[in-house]
Amino acid sequence: MQPGETLWSISVANNLTTRTVAVFNGLSEDAHLIAGQTIQVPTVEEGAAALAAAGITPGSPPSAGSSSAAGSGGTSAAPAYGLGSIPSPWGDLYLDPAAANAWNAMRQASLAQYGIDLYPDGPLSAYRTYEQQAQLYDLYLSGQGPLAAPPGTSAHERGVAVDVAEPVMRQIIDEIGAQYGWAKTADAPHEWWHVVYVGGY
Ligand SMILES: [Zn+2]
Repeated sequence: MQPGETLWSISVANNLTTRTVAVFNGLSEDAHLIAGQTIQVPTVEEGAAALAAAGITPGSPPSAGSSSAAGSGGTSAAPAYGLGSIPSPWGDLYLDPAAANAWNAMRQASLAQYGIDLYPDGPLSAYRTYEQQAQLYDLYLSGQGPLAAPPGTSAHERGVAVDVAEPVMRQIIDEIGAQYGWAKTADAPHEWWHVVYVGGY
């Protein structure tokens, strides 16, 4: 662990979900890590095996015990005036109002048709403030985080992007998202988790 690292930043840097890394290390998803603590990063197969051993199937909501505390791995965006909200394991997160309405309708359809919930991967995975985007960009520049757009240029700052938590969520959005204006677009081709609301454009 380096100062400033979180379970979330480690997970995104390794293309894994926070839940996978948490379960693999016997931690809760909102565990607060301390500098010097050792975190094992599993392979995809090891992570899947750990989830299976814990009785967790991809796409299922995190257990109540692991998601009850606020402030997991990052500070969620303060509710800004005029934004809409979407539910998540970390409490309400925010999006542009039209994007939020469309997301919530798509989520209901996913639950009804597939039994799969759709939610962002963490508190910073929907709307972000300029300052939050700047922090992620700094992590990227210092080699501690995945590719991130410079502050002022991210669709997350406009409240029209979500980074989904599990690949199955992306698969469902590929299938039904167009009806709701949500799609994978070309703005982040190497990030399977990044989907964008294009319905209002
Ligand atoms: Zn994104």
